[in-house]
Amino acid sequence: MKPEADIAPDVVVIGSGMGGATVASGLAGSGAKVLILERGERLTPTPQARDTKAIFLGAHFRPKEMWREAGGARFNPGNYYYVGGNSKFFGGVFLRYRKEDFSEMEHFGGVSPAWPITYDAFEPWYSKAEQLFRVRGELGDDPTEPLHSLPYAFPPVPDEPPIARARQELKALGLHPATLPLGVDIEAWLEGGRTGWDAFPNTGKGKMDAESVALDAALRDPDIELLTGAQVGHLELAPDGRTVAAVHYRHKGQSRRVKPKLVVLSAGAIMSAVILLRSPSTSGRGIANGSDQVGRNFMNHNSVAMMAIDPRRRNDSVYQKTLMLNDYYLTGGSGGRPLGNVQLLGKIDGNVLAANVRLMPRFALDWMASHSVDWSLVCEDLPDPESRVRVDGDEVVLQWRRSNMQASEELKKVMRENLRACGYPVILTRLIDKRTPSHQCGTVRMGLDGASAPLDIFCRSFDHANLFVVDGGFLPTSAAVNPALTIAAQALRVADHIRRTDLA
Ligand SMILES: Cc1cc2nc3c(=O)[nH]c(=O)nc-3n(C[C@H](O)[C@H](O)[C@H](O)COP(=O)(O)OP(=O)(O)OC[C@H]3O[C@@H](n4cnc5c(N)ncnc54)[C@H](O)[C@@H]3O)c2cc1C
Repeated sequence: MKPEADIAPDVVVIGSGMGGATVASGLAGSGAKVLILERGERLTPTPQARDTKAIFLGAHFRPKEMWREAGGARFNPGNYYYVGGNSKFFGGVFLRYRKEDFSEMEHFGGVSPAWPITYDAFEPWYSKAEQLFRVRGELGDDPTEPLHSLPYAFPPVPDEPPIARARQELKALGLHPATLPLGVDIEAWLEGGRTGWDAFPNTGKGKMDAESVALDAALRDPDIELLTGAQVGHLELAPDGRTVAAVHYRHKGQSRRVKPKLVVLSAGAIMSAVILLRSPSTSGRGIANGSDQVGRNFMNHNSVAMMAIDPRRRNDSVYQKTLMLNDYYLTGGSGGRPLGNVQLLGKIDGNVLAANVRLMPRFALDWMASHSVDWSLVCEDLPDPESRVRVDGDEVVLQWRRSNMQASEELKKVMRENLRACGYPVILTRLIDKRTPSHQCGTVRMGLDGASAPLDIFCRSFDHANLFVVDGGFLPTSAAVNPALTIAAQALRVADHIRRTDLA
C-alpha cells in the first residue's frame, strides 16, 4: 500500500518504554522536532488493573499475539504493548549494576564479558536517572553497593511488619539485607487499591515508570509529539545503504512513512531485533547487522520464585517488595564464583499460585500464600550467539538457551538453608518460565567494533550513522540485577550525545 504522507521530524523514536521515553525526555528543550511512534495505547484505570485474577489467571493485559519457541511450541508472551511498555508492569526496582559487572567475570557457565565502558564513566548517568525517576532508597547496608556520587533523594518505602521481621531474622544470621531502591510513591499507589505493584499495571502516578515520569517530562516540550497505535514494521535504507531513509508504520489501518534525520529504535530487546531483521537489505539478514549479532545473545535472567512458609505465622503484607540480599552476588558460590541477587517479589496470593500450580485445591493455595514470604532469586544469564530471536515469515521465534544454571541451583540451596534457619520450615521453588521475557536484553549489543557488535558505546549503529537502538537490546551483559535503571541511564547518556553531536 502506498504511504499516505511523508513527514520529516528531526528525530523519530520508536517505542515509548524505558529506553524510548527516557531518550525523548533527554531531548526535551533541544529545539528538535521529535515524533514518538508507539504501537500501544495508554492504560486507563479499570477494575482489572488491581485484580490478580484478571492479571494472572485471565491474562487480561497480555497481547493478542503468539510467538514460537525454537522447535515448535507456540506461546502467548508476557511482553506488553502499551504507552510506557513493559515498565507499566514493572516491580519499580531501580537497581544499579554493581561496579564488578562492568568488568569481565568468571561464572559457572562461562565468562561474562567486560562492558566497553567503565562503571566510573557511567556512574553520573545512574545518578541522573535516579533523580529523574525519583528513586527511593538508602545507602550503606549492601556489601556490593557501588559508589554513588549522589545519595537517594527520597527515603525508602517502609518495610511492612512481617518484612521488618524477615530483615531482622536475616541480619541475625550475619547476612546483610538491604533496602530495595524503588520508584514507588507508596501513598499514591495505595490510594488506587490495597495491592502490591509488581506485575500490576500503573494507571496513575504511584509507580515511576516510563510513561508517568519520562514521557510526561518529554511531552511538556511542544516540539515532542506522541502518536499511539503506530506500529513500526520496518526501516528503509537510503540507496547507498549508509543511513536510514524512512520508518514504515501502520496507523489506523493505513501504511505510513516518516523520513526523520535520526531514528532511535526503542521497541524493546526482542521487538527492536525483529524490526531490524525484517528491514530489507542487500545482505538479506536485515539492517544494522554487519556483525551478524542482531537477534543473538538474547538474555533474560534465570529467576526462581521461592516461597518461605511458616505455618505458625501469617504474612499479611500488602506489597512486601522492599528488601534484597546481595551477600552471594559476587563470590557466594563454590570456588568463590558469583551466584546472584535475592529480592522480595510482590506479595503472592492464591490467584497468582493458581495460574502457576495445577492439581492443588484452591483453599490450599490460599493458605500457602497467606503464610509465605516470597522471594525472587535472580542469576546472571550469559551472552550466547545461539540464544536468539529470529523471524520466520510473520512469526517471532524465541530460541532462548538458558546458561549458568549451576549458579541458580547453588543460590536456591543456600537460600533454602538460610530461610529454614530463619524459621520457615517449608520452602517451595519454581523456575520462572520462558513465556515471560521480562528482563529481555542483549539482542543488539553495544561494543567497541562493528565486527563484534551492532552498536557503538553511544548505541549508534556502526553501519548506519543516523540510527540508534536504545532499549534492553544494547546491554552487553545481563548482570543479576533488574535492567530498567541501566537502560534509563544509558538513554540519558545517548540523548546527551545526540544533542552534542547530531543536533548541535
Ligand atoms: C512484570 C515485570 C516486572 C518487571 N520488574 C522490573 C523491575 O522491578 N525493575 C527493572 O529494572 N525492570 C523490571 N522489568 C523489566 C523492565 O520493565 C524492562 O527492562 C524495561 O521496560 C525495558 O525497557 P525497553 O525500553 O527495553 O522496553 P519497553 O519498556 O518494553 O518498551 C518498548 C516499547 O516499544 C513499543 N513497541 C514494540 N514494538 C513496537 C513497534 N513495532 N512499533 C512501535 N512501538 C513498538 C512497546 O509497546 C513499548 O512501549 C519488569 C518487567 C516486567 C514485564
